[in-house]
Amino acid sequence: MIIILKPEVTVESREFQRIAAHLANFREVEARVHHVQGTGQKLTEIYLIGNTAQLSLEEIRSFPGIDYAVRVSEAYRVLGRHKEDSRPCGFTYQDVEFGQNNLNIFAGLCAVDSPGSVEAMMKMLQEHGQVCTRMGAYKPRTSAYSFQGHGKHCLQYVFELAGKYGIRVIAMEVTHESHVDEINQALDRTGRPTGVMLQIGTRNTQNFELLKSVGRQQEFPVLLKRGFGITLDESLHAAEYLASEGNQKVVFGLRGMKTNIGDPHRNMVDFAHVPVVKRLTRMPVCIDPSHSVGSRHRSSDNILDVMHVTAQGVIAGANMILVDFHPDPSVALVDGPQALRLEELPVFLEDVRICREAYEKRLANYQV
Ligand code: PEP
Ligand code: MN
Repeated sequence: MIIILKPEVTVESREFQRIAAHLANFREVEARVHHVQGTGQKLTEIYLIGNTAQLSLEEIRSFPGIDYAVRVSEAYRVLGRHKEDSRPCGFTYQDVEFGQNNLNIFAGLCAVDSPGSVEAMMKMLQEHGQVCTRMGAYKPRTSAYSFQGHGKHCLQYVFELAGKYGIRVIAMEVTHESHVDEINQALDRTGRPTGVMLQIGTRNTQNFELLKSVGRQQEFPVLLKRGFGITLDESLHAAEYLASEGNQKVVFGLRGMKTNIGDPHRNMVDFAHVPVVKRLTRMPVCIDPSHSVGSRHRSSDNILDVMHVTAQGVIAGANMILVDFHPDPSVALVDGPQALRLEELPVFLEDVRICREAYEKRLANYQV
C-alpha cells in the first residue's frame, strides 16, 4: 500500500503521529517514508511493506492528513500502474519535463573523445533548439583493452561547454557509485551549469548494489536501460530497486535484445514494447535506435535503419530518444559505425517531428 500525505502534512505533524500510531498496531507491516519533489511541491509518501492485507484501505483513507492511499499489486509497487492509482507520471528536471505524454531528444556522443567533438556537437544542438544530449564518460566495453572513456578527466569541459551552449540535461552512463560523486564534484567545480541524467547501461540493469546507491540519491534522475538478455518483467523489477530506495525519477530505456535472430541488426529491436511499458508502469519510455541497429545501413528507400526504427518507436508513443551522433564517425573511439553525422541532425529532427505528429493524430483518432 502507498499512502500520500496532503502537501502541508509533515512527519512532525499530529496528523502523521496518529497515522504512525495506527500502523504500529500491525507488527508485520513496515512503513518507509519517502519525500518526493513533485512539480511545485514536496510530497511525503509512505510505502507500507509486509502483510498489508490486514489493513483496511477505507480506514487508512479516513485519517485526516492523508491525501489518498492505493493498494498496490505485488509487481512494480512504486513505479507500476495500479487500480485507482491517480499518482502523476514523470517529473521535471532542470526545467525539462519528462513524462508519458511528451518527447525529449538526447542526440549526442556515445563517448566523449575530445573537447572539439563535444563543442561541435553542442553547438549543432543549440542551433537546432535542443537542450538535452548524451555524452559518455564512463564506457563499459566488451574488451578490457578497448577505450574505457575519459572518465572524470573530461567532466569539467563537458559541463562547461554544456553551460556555454544552453544544454540543460546530459545523459551520462555510470558504472560505479563513485562516478556519481565525481559527477557531483565536477558540477560543483564548474558552478553547476547543467544537469545530468544518470544512465544505467544494459550490462548493469541487474547490478542491484549500483541500483540501490543510485536510488538513494534523489538529485539526479536515472535512465535505466533494459537488460539485453533478460525478460521485460525482470528489467521492470530492476527499475523498482531505484524507486524503492527513494528515487522515482526514472526513465525506462529500450535498446534491443541480444540474439542472432535480430541479425543483421546489432540487437533485436524491441520498440513494440513502448506501449507495453507505458501500460504497466508510470515511467516515461526511452528508445535507443543506435544501440539497437548498430550500423549506418540504409534501406532501398534511402532511409537509414536507425531512422526507420526511431520512427517506429516515436509513432508508438516513445517519450525520449537517445541517439548517437559524431562530427566524424570514422574517428569516433566508440561505436562510430552506428553514429549519425552532425549534418544529419536536421533531417533526423524533421523525421521525428513527422512521426510525433502522426502519433498525436493517432491519439486523437482513438479519443471518443
Ligand atoms: C550507451 O548508451 O552508450 C550504451 C552503452 O548502451 P547500452 O547499455 O544499451 O549498451
Ligand atoms: Mn555506444
